[in-house]
Amino acid sequence: MMKRPAIFLDRDGTLIEDLHYPKDPEKVKWVSGAPQALKELQNLGFLLFVVSNQSGVGRGIITDSEFRSVHERVCKLLKESGIEILEFAYCFHKPEDLCKCRKPETKLILDLAKTHSIDLSRSYTVGDKWSDVLLGVRVGANGILLGSAQPEQNPPDLERQNQSNFPTWAEVVAFIRRSKIN
Ligand SMILES: [Mg+2]
Ligand SMILES: [Zn+2]
Repeated sequence: MMKRPAIFLDRDGTLIEDLHYPKDPEKVKWVSGAPQALKELQNLGFLLFVVSNQSGVGRGIITDSEFRSVHERVCKLLKESGIEILEFAYCFHKPEDLCKCRKPETKLILDLAKTHSIDLSRSYTVGDKWSDVLLGVRVGANGILLGSAQPEQNPPDLERQNQSNFPTWAEVVAFIRRSKIN
């Protein structure tokens, strides 16, 4: 079977505005340009996944039902825009749990890639934190930073050629379109 390319999307601050431990579905709003961008990426033939750290759940700041209602609201917005997310992968752990799924740990993406036959070398991570970029590089994909986050750390295994930074979703899509290998 031919392996397919994918985009692994961060959720908070990338698809929807970052509300810091979101619990109210009424407050869920798109990041500017996100739905149009996702539609275009979908049309370019990328499978779309959401990979998100939700430590608010593990910390007890967000209840399971609050988490679920925000998740359902996000699903509804995506559906209204005709966007298909193949799978959502969440880590609910706290950093001190030292799990293997909290980004920039790689388990969530590696599991998705295996399950869905993804060609990681033709895939991208997109997120609003440098850890999202590091994650992309670590799994052998391309890491894209959306917006203007300051570097959190300077990880030694970051390979510059596989990382990019763009201020808007439109520029992210233009870059992926240019660099797409068929
Ligand atoms: Mg984020
Ligand atoms: Zn985890």
